[in-house]
Amino acid sequence: MLAVHYDAFRAAPRLLEVPDPAVPPDGAVVRVMATGVCRSDWHGWMGHDPDIRLPHVPGHELAGVVEAVGAEVRGWRRGDRVTVPFVCGCGGCRECRTGNHQVCEAQFQPGFTHWGSFARFVAIHRADVNLVGLPEAIDFTTAASLGCRYATSFRAVVDQGRAGPGEWVAVHGCGGVGLSAVQIAAAMGAQVVAVDIDGEKLALARALGAAATVDARAVPSVVEAIAEVTGGGAHLSLDALGHPTTCFDSIACLRRRGRHVQVGLMLDAHATPAIPMAKVISHELELRGSHGMPAHRYDAMLAMIAAGRLAPQRLVGRTITLAQSIEALTGMDRFPGVGVTVIVAP
Ligand SMILES: [Zn+2]
Ligand SMILES: [Zn+2]
Repeated sequence: MLAVHYDAFRAAPRLLEVPDPAVPPDGAVVRVMATGVCRSDWHGWMGHDPDIRLPHVPGHELAGVVEAVGAEVRGWRRGDRVTVPFVCGCGGCRECRTGNHQVCEAQFQPGFTHWGSFARFVAIHRADVNLVGLPEAIDFTTAASLGCRYATSFRAVVDQGRAGPGEWVAVHGCGGVGLSAVQIAAAMGAQVVAVDIDGEKLALARALGAAATVDARAVPSVVEAIAEVTGGGAHLSLDALGHPTTCFDSIACLRRRGRHVQVGLMLDAHATPAIPMAKVISHELELRGSHGMPAHRYDAMLAMIAAGRLAPQRLVGRTITLAQSIEALTGMDRFPGVGVTVIVAP
């Protein structure tokens, strides 16, 4: 099969003919129909992810059709339309047994722990635990955005953040995760203030339901700007970028007893950011991480999409070919683009 393949970090990936994946006994091989290009893929290619063993095929935001299943698989068959969370659970550890596959002790992550979906086929382990059936109404390009950024935002806003009607929710960073969070928080009845340094992204945030926006380059203090917009600080705030500055601002912009959710990955030199811990104590702030979403929780999100309350297709920026994905991947830090970039029909 054709795949985007690299054998050294930070060296140009190549489009190569590689062997088709074998079908795991408990897993499935999925014919990839669409797969998103994500900042996590860029982090992986940069060498920031210790799970990646070279040579490697990136890609973790996939949707496609089951091509083959292993002998132990009960719930899936060839031809099923599926997607998969970017963190797949083992199904047997303490966390998986309590429904928390997103923090499984023995995770399978396509595109990180194993070869991913910048390819014609991808093998998914423990298919009965991790595959998610796609309703016919959701096209593959839209579905490709669900497995990582949209689902991650859904869990961050709804489950970890507990966004409620009438609350102010601040979203720091309007990339794929941030824009998803804007749409989801607005759908939950919250008022969203979106923060970014790019006017085009802020305009899209408004179109997706943000009640207010803050251009971080145009104000002396993001924290003060949010305090003004929200009348004293956000009830819930998300760092959707994963940077020491946005992390700090997200915590500092909360009102008393507010909740911060860290969604953006903090890797490499950013792994131990400064935190206004004095304020965390005196204002009884709550800090939580959010890491993907288990397959069994997709039903709630898919139901909101089916009902028209969420529209992830509006997050898709441009569609590209597998060959174009190399430039999209390696140039991600320089030309991040607006919305989610999706590779179609690799
Ligand atoms: Zn991703
Ligand atoms: Zn597990």
